[in-house]
Amino acid sequence: MILFKKAADLCKWLDVQQKKGYAIGFAPTMGALHAGHISLVEMSKKNNPVTVSSIFVNPTQFNDQQDFQKYPITLEKDIAMLEAAGCDVLFLPSIKEMYPDEMTGRGVKPKIHYDLGQLENILEGKFRPGHFQGVCMVVHRLLEIVQPDNLYLGQKDYQQCMVITKLIELMQQDKKIKVNICPTLREADGLAMSSRNMRFNEDERKTAATIYQSLRFIKENIQQKNLAEVKLKAQTLLEEAGFRVDYVEIADATNLSLVNDWDGKQRPVALIAAFLNEIRLIDNMLLK
Ligand code: AMP
Repeated sequence: MILFKKAADLCKWLDVQQKKGYAIGFAPTMGALHAGHISLVEMSKKNNPVTVSSIFVNPTQFNDQQDFQKYPITLEKDIAMLEAAGCDVLFLPSIKEMYPDEMTGRGVKPKIHYDLGQLENILEGKFRPGHFQGVCMVVHRLLEIVQPDNLYLGQKDYQQCMVITKLIELMQQDKKIKVNICPTLREADGLAMSSRNMRFNEDERKTAATIYQSLRFIKENIQQKNLAEVKLKAQTLLEEAGFRVDYVEIADATNLSLVNDWDGKQRPVALIAAFLNEIRLIDNMLLK
C-alpha cells in the first residue's frame, strides 16, 4: 500500500492510473477502523483495479468540540488493517493539506454553502447544526483530489449517504461518480460497528445494543396506523436502558421525509440517534 500525505503527490499518481484506463474506487474514513470500514474497501477491490482509502478526522463536521478531541486514533492498527485488505493507497492528509486556506478546524466557515434542501434541517441536521456543511466541505475536497469512478459509503450513516449523493449532483463534474451504499456491519449482539464503540466500558457496551433492539422492535411491530405508538415504545425501551434520545423517527427511505401516516406502500426507514452517557450513537433499519 502506498501512503500519500500530500494531495499533489496523490493526484500525480492517480493521473497515471487514470491514463492506463483503471477505474478508481474510494472509501473515505475518519480512522479507528473496524470491519465495517474494511467491508467498503473490499467492495471497492472487487469492482475497481485501484482502491484508495483516506483517514482524516474532519474538524469541521464536529459540532461538539469534546467529541472531536476524544475521537479515537489508532493509526498503526488502521494501516495494518488496510494493508491486509489489499487497499492500494492510503491518503493521510493534515488539516492544512485539506484546508489550505484556513488555519484550524473548529469555527472554520465553509466558503461555499451547500444547498442540501430539507436534508440540512431534519434528523442529524436538526440535532447537529452545521454538521453536514462540514461533511460536504471535506468530501468535496476529497472527491476533487481523488476523482473516483466509484465511491463507497456505509448505510450506517443513512442521511450522510443522501447528503453526499446531493453534493455530487451539486458538484456537476464531467466525470460521473457512482455512489455505492454498503450494508451496515454489526457486532454479534446487533450493535452497529462504530469507531465510537471503543469508548464504552463493558456495561455501556452491553447496553449499547438496545439501539438495535429498538430498531428491530419497530420493524417487527410497524403497521399502517401505529407509527406514533411504535416510535414511543422504542423510545421508552431506550430511555429505560439509560439512553438520552435525540430522535426515534420513521422516514421515507428515498428522501427522508418524515412519515406519520404510512400508506403501507412507501418504503420506510427507522432512524435513531441517542446518547449513552456522553457518547452519541446513530443507527437505522429499512423496514420493508
Ligand atoms: P467514519 O470513519 O465513521 O466516518 O465512516 C467512514 C465510512 O464507513 C462511512 O461511509 C460510514 O458510513 C462507513 N461505516 C461506518 N460504520 C460502518 C458499519 N458498521 N458498516 C458499514 N459501513 C460503516
